[in-house]
Amino acid sequence: MTNQVAVRVPGKINLQLSVGPLQRDGYHELATVFQSVSLFDEVTVSQIESGIEITSDSKSNIPLDKENLAFRAAEIMCKKFDIETGLAIKIKKEIPVAGGMAGGSADAGGTIVAIDSLFSLGLKRDEMERIGAELGADVPFTIAGGTAIGTGRGDQIAPVLSRGSYNWVLALSTSGLSTPSVYKECDRLREGLDISKPFVSDSLLQALSHGDAKALGKALSNDLQPAACSLKPALRLILDVGLDYGALGGIVSGSGPTVAFLAENEDHALDLVVALTSSGVVGNVIRVAGPVPGARVITNG
Ligand code: C5P
Repeated sequence: MTNQVAVRVPGKINLQLSVGPLQRDGYHELATVFQSVSLFDEVTVSQIESGIEITSDSKSNIPLDKENLAFRAAEIMCKKFDIETGLAIKIKKEIPVAGGMAGGSADAGGTIVAIDSLFSLGLKRDEMERIGAELGADVPFTIAGGTAIGTGRGDQIAPVLSRGSYNWVLALSTSGLSTPSVYKECDRLREGLDISKPFVSDSLLQALSHGDAKALGKALSNDLQPAACSLKPALRLILDVGLDYGALGGIVSGSGPTVAFLAENEDHALDLVVALTSSGVVGNVIRVAGPVPGARVITNG
């Protein structure tokens, strides 16, 4: 048996997020298109005598106890597979905390994949995704990666035909947004309106299947965007600046506050980074590519 396993797991953006009415279980039915992008957390799991210990290099004070989804992922794996030793989980964070990019979910997805490998459980990817769904709506996609449609709570994943690679520029915020409060604000803004069943747009799927960045830029949409902008009005300004500088499209990612801009190519992405950085409205701007694969073991031994 190996001593430790490191897994690299990507963050995601939502190319479309269609949100249905609030359901009795407190969740909303979703139709979303996820794409994983080249911004990675690294989760390393090793055996210790007893208990579950989390450490992290994150400056954002992520929780190191049960509040952390990776802790709950370890707990659930130990219970399901009768693992009796303790586990140490080291999380190296690149994905923004509370940024709408599934950072916490990625660490849970990474923990599941690492434990599968550490104990040679031989689980199939869809089995790990099902375990992930018990922890949170975004966890299965962090394991699957690529470009995929998510339905139900966003946890039922089906891959999407997507050609080519896309150049994204991410405007990261210094402070995060809480996902439940963004959904709550969405409900408040839509009060009294007749909300239809969520759906994925044909134009978005066609743009992806043709690898047509221009059409994809036009088809980006997010029903949570008005709510995220209502809670953080500076996001409207950031969106305007990116679009003024020629982004093919701009969108708040998931529940925000990260804003993703689509560029035509690498040079255009670099131009956008410079323009957004010098505008003074964004603290941290980075360039990423998508799609990339989901959680993968990078070292084992
Ligand atoms: O599943 P997860 O813990 O990531 O969800 C966080 C919160 O986001 C939920 O408690 C709920 O308030 C909201 N949510 C929702 N509908 C979804 C997914 C998440 O209302 N489909």
